[in-house]
Amino acid sequence: MVKSDLFWCKSCLNFSTRNRISFDERGYCNACSWSEEKESIDWEKRQADFKLLLNKINTKNKTPFDLVIPISGGKDGSYVTHKMMNEYGLNPLCVTVNPPLRTELGHKNLENFKSKGNSLIEIDPPHDVMKLINKRGLINQGRPLFGWTTSIFTAVARIATTFNIDLIMYGEDGEVEYGGDDSTKNIPYFDIEYIKSVYLESQHQETFNGISDDELFFWKLDSDALQDIKLTHWSYYESWDSYRNYLIAKKHFGLEEVSSQNKGTYTNFAQNDTYLYALHTFLMYIKFGFGRCTQDVGIDIRRGAMTREQGIQIVNLMENQFPNDYLEMYLEYYEMNEKEFIEILHKHTNDDLFNYDKLEWHPKFEIT
Ligand SMILES: [Zn+2]
Repeated sequence: MVKSDLFWCKSCLNFSTRNRISFDERGYCNACSWSEEKESIDWEKRQADFKLLLNKINTKNKTPFDLVIPISGGKDGSYVTHKMMNEYGLNPLCVTVNPPLRTELGHKNLENFKSKGNSLIEIDPPHDVMKLINKRGLINQGRPLFGWTTSIFTAVARIATTFNIDLIMYGEDGEVEYGGDDSTKNIPYFDIEYIKSVYLESQHQETFNGISDDELFFWKLDSDALQDIKLTHWSYYESWDSYRNYLIAKKHFGLEEVSSQNKGTYTNFAQNDTYLYALHTFLMYIKFGFGRCTQDVGIDIRRGAMTREQGIQIVNLMENQFPNDYLEMYLEYYEMNEKEFIEILHKHTNDDLFNYDKLEWHPKFEIT
């Protein structure tokens, strides 16, 4: 039986187990109420504020670059890069952290991105340290990409401080757009404390135990050096639409999608960079009862491309798919045998939500 504190958004399928999410009196999650609110935001005013910010920052005194844009070669970073270069005439320094177990497609898309006249720094933090942090993330927190997702903030911040660039532009504020802490929806900048509490969930210190400062160079945040740097999301300045981003990225950067759908969902154009992403979202599923498919459905419901009923059917059909095809690859990467690996997955499974045996999970809940 589903516990009484377990419920779903009345508009999309966001689950009450999602970290930091809030619901209004109608039972709509904060992502859904934000998508209504977006209709009446004065985006022109926000974009005028962005121009004022650019005048104020004027990074060009110190470096040829106006801002840093973290990218992966996927749709969102490509869209923001296109926007900054072609609409605002800016010279971004794009930064990517190469992910472990990158897919062929992820590689190809990054190559396509590089061929379009932008400056890109590719960071390869030491692979053994990356693997160790990812492995600890998997074992301790059920976050198999902890090292990589952390470095997307910390390594990018290192580049900004090293190159004296005072603005870092991220894509969307995921908490506001997809459900979570929406306290930043009307605040243009976020700071280092926000990164620590929301993105790193304050767990990074214990995961780094015993690793030297030199080895952790790309994972350490230098709070002092970051004092003068503004961190912001483009979703604050323009109504975020990931499908639009996909179309623009396809047109201008030759973005390609997988030929069938991604594991555990029905879409094929997002988060194609690494084989570990499917494990990352599957762990989210067994920890919280929602995975990649629920997230994609939410986006499509909010943009009016799917009904809630259709969403439920698709999630019931697709969400519960352990990425079996990649199992051998995962065991090799984490240097574990199958038994150890399965034990870790079981350890992170929420017993209130699932019955499980080996690599099969059966939800105790039914989405209503
Ligand atoms: Zn919702």
